[in-house]
Amino acid sequence: MAKVGIIICARYRDCGGGKCFRAMRERHGGFARYPADETVEIVGYSTCGGCPGGNVEYVPAEFIKNGCDVVHLATGLVVGYPPCPSIRRFKEFIETQYGLPVVVGTHPIPLKYLQTHDRLSFWDASGMRELAAHLLAEPRELMEAYN
Ligand code: SF4
Repeated sequence: MAKVGIIICARYRDCGGGKCFRAMRERHGGFARYPADETVEIVGYSTCGGCPGGNVEYVPAEFIKNGCDVVHLATGLVVGYPPCPSIRRFKEFIETQYGLPVVVGTHPIPLKYLQTHDRLSFWDASGMRELAAHLLAEPRELMEAYN
């Protein structure tokens, strides 16, 4: 069983989580790593707290109290406008401070977001193509289904 804590970008704090929970159920995006027969339980769900992401310092401790063994940084950090400038720091901090592995992404990248980012100069400079290579490798039809 995987016990997952999700941290979303606070700019999307009102999001109902539909894409993330769908991806968890369908094993897409960041959840594709878990076999279909493995139970995935969400043990925590929070925002970063808003730029520059102060909640990241504390919220993994809450996740751990609920048995968390892996943290997912939501796809909104990858393809928001602009992409989160601190996503690498969040990943390294959580892995170093809390010893929890951090997966970049929850749901697949919606195709319409990718099509826009492909035309933005700062997207290449962000290094996100490498950090989220597993999301970018998903079929375009799947991305379109998450538009
Ligand atoms: S851009 Fe990054 S630091 Fe800013 S609100 Fe979103 S996740 Fe938090």
